[in-house]
Amino acid sequence: MNPLAATNRNFRHAARLLSLDSKLEKSLLMPHREIKVECTIIKDDGSLATFEGFRVQHDNSRGTMKGGIRYHPEVEHGEVNALAQIMTWKTAVVNLPYGGAKGGIACDPKELSIRELERLTRVFTQKIHHFIGVNVDVPAPDIGTNAQTMAWIMDEYSKYHGYSPAIVTGKPIGLGGSVAREAATGRGVVIATEALLADHGKLIEGSTFVIQGFGNVGSWVARLVHELNGKIVAVSDVTGAVRNPDGIDIPAFLEHYKTTGSLTNFDGGDNMNPEELLFQECDVLIPCALGGVLTRENAGDVKAKFVVEAANHPVDPEADEILSKKGVIILPDIYANAGGVTVSYFEWVQNTQGFMWDEATVNLELKKYMKSAFGNIKKMCKTHDCNLRMGAFTLGVDRVAHSTMLRGFEG
Ligand code: GLU
Repeated sequence: MNPLAATNRNFRHAARLLSLDSKLEKSLLMPHREIKVECTIIKDDGSLATFEGFRVQHDNSRGTMKGGIRYHPEVEHGEVNALAQIMTWKTAVVNLPYGGAKGGIACDPKELSIRELERLTRVFTQKIHHFIGVNVDVPAPDIGTNAQTMAWIMDEYSKYHGYSPAIVTGKPIGLGGSVAREAATGRGVVIATEALLADHGKLIEGSTFVIQGFGNVGSWVARLVHELNGKIVAVSDVTGAVRNPDGIDIPAFLEHYKTTGSLTNFDGGDNMNPEELLFQECDVLIPCALGGVLTRENAGDVKAKFVVEAANHPVDPEADEILSKKGVIILPDIYANAGGVTVSYFEWVQNTQGFMWDEATVNLELKKYMKSAFGNIKKMCKTHDCNLRMGAFTLGVDRVAHSTMLRGFEG
């Protein structure tokens, strides 16, 4: 099922549980604004290259629209739309004063030089700068983008609008970025997992984990789970996969990854077929990469007891049904990976206040937001007699619907 159809289906299910007015339902589903731009750059060899760029602003009922910018060959309009909608519910689930947006450029960042990436980012910013703003829409990193990308966007935007550090989050610390932002999505995933396991009388310590994806999110999840004495039995990324039923020594593994640039041939584990990773025996499976990894074709083979969606929409609705029937408990993306946007909010607050927080404050506040959201999701599960995904969706959709109604519809 394509990402937009899947997200819409989850939204409609939540709207039914909330008995939402059908006209309000329709209005909440439609994106506020969709921008598609052509970005042409001169490549290092003098040739021209054109890329499609997108920014979808889904909803601003609860405040400034917020969401990442993705650089990936598969970026397309439908997925950006779905991801923008996911941001609306996600920011509401953790109760941030934000709406949802998402952007992206259909390109392969690995095929572009650093100067080409800079030119592409600046051209994209030139095309969208009229439509974003510190109190309108604030981009952040996502797959294929990082703090440097945000620095270029901030610099280009500031040429038109004056120095504006709060126009992006996930910036380098030297430009007003927040301490602890880089680890925040992974840290949030681990706090969410702790809350989920505690709800089932379990701890991270002594539980076994499989992590799919070893980029920013996956590597931080691995590091933090290891610090809490969780046992990581298998890890994969695009370069391959490694398994060790006795637990991978994560600090040594990170060192191996840094020096070789690959997960494979690690002394403390055995190489394995990455395609088998999702079906390993474990307590918690954490997909940390792209969406759509668990589908009706493969969900039946999952052996984990819990699936924590660190990626956005890694489990499609058909897989969701299969897993639920098997008794697998799924912690949904709109809660599980909300730590990133939560610390983005803290960064934006620090920028607008001109005051910097220390790491302990950021991490403590993050924990408060994540723990409180879990409690609120559980309450919705009880009220609507539903699973955690619908608990999170009803919580997010209800909050957005409430703000929309309060603001009114008169033009
Ligand atoms: N790209 C991240 C997400 O999908 C972070 C968004 C943000 O910080 O605005 O949640």
